[in-house]
Amino acid sequence: MKKTCPITAAERSYAVEKEKSGPVSEYYGEDTFNIRVMKNKLPGDTYNKIIDAIHENTILDLETANTVAHAMAKWAIEKGATHFAHWFQPMTGITAEKHDAFIDVTGASSVIERFSGKQLVQGEPDASSFPSGGIRATFEARGYTAWDMSSPAFIRRNGISTTLCIPTAFISFTGQALDKKTPLLRSNRAVSKSALNILKLLGSKDVRGVFATLGPEQEYFLIDADYYYKRPDLVMGGRAIVGAPPPKGQELEDQYFGSIKERVSSYMHDMEEELFKLGVPAKTRHNEVAPSQFELAPVFEEANLAVDHNQIVMDTMQQVAKKHRLACLLHEKPFAGINGSGKHLNWSLSDNKGNNLLNPGQTPEDNIHFLVFLIAVIRAVYKHADIIRASVGSYANDHRLGANEAPPAIISVFLGDQLTRILGDIEAGKVSKASDKEIINLGISSLPIVSKDSTDRNRTSPFAFTGNKFEFRAVGSAQSISFPATVLNTIVAESLDYLAEKIKGRCDKSGNVNQCVLTVIREELKDIKPVLFNGDNYTMEWEKEAAKRKLPNYKTTPVALKALITPKALDLFEKYKVLSHVELKSRYLIHIERYIKDLSIEAKCLQNICLSQILPAATSYQNRLSEAILGTREALGKSADLSAQLDLLKKLAALVNQVYATNQAIQTGVEKASAVHDEQKKAEMLCDRVKTKMNELRGYVDELEMLVDDELWPLPKFWEMLFIS
Ligand code: ADP
Ligand code: MG
Repeated sequence: MKKTCPITAAERSYAVEKEKSGPVSEYYGEDTFNIRVMKNKLPGDTYNKIIDAIHENTILDLETANTVAHAMAKWAIEKGATHFAHWFQPMTGITAEKHDAFIDVTGASSVIERFSGKQLVQGEPDASSFPSGGIRATFEARGYTAWDMSSPAFIRRNGISTTLCIPTAFISFTGQALDKKTPLLRSNRAVSKSALNILKLLGSKDVRGVFATLGPEQEYFLIDADYYYKRPDLVMGGRAIVGAPPPKGQELEDQYFGSIKERVSSYMHDMEEELFKLGVPAKTRHNEVAPSQFELAPVFEEANLAVDHNQIVMDTMQQVAKKHRLACLLHEKPFAGINGSGKHLNWSLSDNKGNNLLNPGQTPEDNIHFLVFLIAVIRAVYKHADIIRASVGSYANDHRLGANEAPPAIISVFLGDQLTRILGDIEAGKVSKASDKEIINLGISSLPIVSKDSTDRNRTSPFAFTGNKFEFRAVGSAQSISFPATVLNTIVAESLDYLAEKIKGRCDKSGNVNQCVLTVIREELKDIKPVLFNGDNYTMEWEKEAAKRKLPNYKTTPVALKALITPKALDLFEKYKVLSHVELKSRYLIHIERYIKDLSIEAKCLQNICLSQILPAATSYQNRLSEAILGTREALGKSADLSAQLDLLKKLAALVNQVYATNQAIQTGVEKASAVHDEQKKAEMLCDRVKTKMNELRGYVDELEMLVDDELWPLPKFWEMLFIS
């Protein structure tokens, strides 16, 4: 019944007849109002002013803004845009936009197209319907959006509608951050300042700026849209909350990097074409480990741009899927029993000349820089592992973290053998003099290749050094990378400042910077080395060992989120002007509330599915069996051996009872939790009691799936969704 060949001639011809674009280089970025376009379309002095404003982070005067707005609108209208929208990233985790037509009424029945500098620079969407975690109550509902000049405006096409999207920050009327972009921009500034400061201290003369770089590897599933719409759980929450694992999962390892099926290839091509037009450097694509799972990895970019682009990637993936009658699932764990999806967030720092500060160098100076930045990151992770863990906490990601496929909730750092040895030598005092020769002899210069090799052997580490960058692997596939990046920037800024102070203190005594650096590194390593771990993160031994080392292990989001409101976290974010106490507390509350909502939605969805789909199917089959038993007995008389049928019937009846009773228990649990006013306690109650019951219920339903007549089973099964292409 459900098993149809999903691809029809019409879809295939969509892929085949779609007008082929020329070489990518000819249309890359054509739908963005980027620097190149600005240079072309703006008068020279306006262009210079805007470039200055981007670099110096200043505000444009109104006249310049008007000139830019005029050129931008003209460009967009030529591309078919009728509307503009301030595009922002509220705390919902997705993007928001409010469209305004480019029209100005000029008479009784006439309009002209107009777009002013004021409209470009600032908007006032009603903030009251976005999560604010209490900020709104205290400071009124008004919020405004402010143009982020560092991320190019772009054209969004949706059906026949075309809109100019202007990336903006979203702030309350009193300047409080209501979005994910504002703190990221602030954290970029913080890490940039601290990095520049320490580089100067180490003797760099001509570095003018430092910025964080991000490369998020995006995993996703694709299934046929028909199946998707037959599963209320997928439509409502992105995850199959019931469903038995398929007989064949990923054990044959025949999917990873395998050849890509036609339908998927066409989809990828189409999706990437859209991304290329929007200037998103979608570089790599491949099959992932699980059936029907794929990955897209972009070339890394400056952090703010990378965050915007990742939002565009997630959006585009889902939009384009519809055209191919596919559904793109970004959920962290859509299918129990097979791998979930993550987003490996590659993070590094670069100077204004494009030098990667985590790149082991060829010269003694480069090596020293590398060591300092490396130690700063390790120290940051050691000191703030709890905040890092909290930054990726969500109801969905809990299904994945620690499930022996993704990193555990214990945040440790993987360095690889070579680098571990080098740091060990430094700590043991084997390198005593910081002469150029000794620093070169440390072996750092020969690191990249060696450590890259060994990194691939450890996919279990949540935070791995992979040759010239750190790869934070605990981020969920559906999450915005903004907050994890904000946290990394901020904690590294703090560590850089801390190291700078220490080095300075030492230097005042001895004078030789390199020597001081080595001494400081030696001292620091003694403190921070508990966070270093090269072994298998999935083992029980590691969990025990990590406990001995006093590394935090917050297995669930409600517990993990508390790390955001410790005095340590509040003071850190306030000190670096990334988030004030009020702002950070509001974020904690938003995340807790979101957890409660996500879990409650799933609980309701599960109850609905059980009562309106699973139980009716099971009882129909029960009926059929009963009729068969009675009929057979009538036909064959007492001699009929009905043991199998009777056994099946008993099993069915028992499972039906269990489904019903567990469903009731979930209901009671939800009601009890709703009566609790403290959000933290409510979340913990739902997590500890209701979630366990939901898992139990799933067990019964999945047993029923194996018993009930396939024709009667109302939901597409995993093997249908994952293997029919
Ligand atoms: P690996 O094979 O070690 O995973 P790749 O070069 O394939 O390394 O990169 C994987 C991801 O890491 C890509 O998305 C890439 O853009 C990103 N990446 C590479 N260098 C950096 C960097 N300096 N900063 C941030 N991300 C980076
Ligand atoms: Mg990777």
